[in-house]
Amino acid sequence: MSLCQPQNKQNSCGACCGIFNLKLNSLSFQKILKERTKDFSSNVSFDEPWKIAEYRQRREKIEAEYKKVDEMIYNCPYLGFIDKEYKKIGCMIHPERTKDPKSQNFSFYGSSICQGYTCTNFDRQTAGSWQKIFDSMELNYFEYSNLAADHITINCIEKFFLETHISLDRMFSEYKNLLIDLLFLKLRNKRLKPLLHQTSFEIDTNLPEKTNLEKLAERLKLKKNGEIYQKLLDIYHD
Ligand code: SF4
Ligand code: SF4
Repeated sequence: MSLCQPQNKQNSCGACCGIFNLKLNSLSFQKILKERTKDFSSNVSFDEPWKIAEYRQRREKIEAEYKKVDEMIYNCPYLGFIDKEYKKIGCMIHPERTKDPKSQNFSFYGSSICQGYTCTNFDRQTAGSWQKIFDSMELNYFEYSNLAADHITINCIEKFFLETHISLDRMFSEYKNLLIDLLFLKLRNKRLKPLLHQTSFEIDTNLPEKTNLEKLAERLKLKKNGEIYQKLLDIYHD
């Protein structure tokens, strides 16, 4: 079980493969990922490896037209759906599928980076507890990736609780509903649309002199007279 591919769950994360860096909405992501998956399954056979390379060339040409949030971030076309229901995303040339440990060498990054990279949230000690929270929210792959890769928001939340002398264990048990409210707010608030394009490579530019309450409020654009802000304020002053 990992944050990237939770077992037995109809969601998964593919943020670091770059897809959400495209300036598109969730319906367009679904369309592109479906197109990729169908193209790959119709035209690629693992017995004819050159077809894996041809697929990449073809898709890169098509997807070069799409606008990106950050031009420097690569959008790997081997990310597609790995289930029949088109719900779970993952690497279509992962060794578990190809039975070749080096098959990701057909990609831009190469197999050592594809297999070696882990994002900040993946490496976090509390990754398993966050995954349980995400799972309880019944998210789709777009929403799940958005939270799984967002180390800045998760850092803000953890630091806020630690600053108020609430342990992370207590945070996950006593404040679970508040965590879920904060995360849904992040996904649903229209003003936070720019935060929906996570890749996990984002850099936290928040100024260190701000309090963690201020950082969290700013990150999630919390209204000072809003219910969630007031709850945080109560915790902060307790
Ligand atoms: S962004 Fe993190 S959680 Fe998501 S697939 Fe990459 S390493 Fe896994
Ligand atoms: S080849 Fe690497 S970058 Fe591309 S989808 Fe697979 S894991 Fe992601």
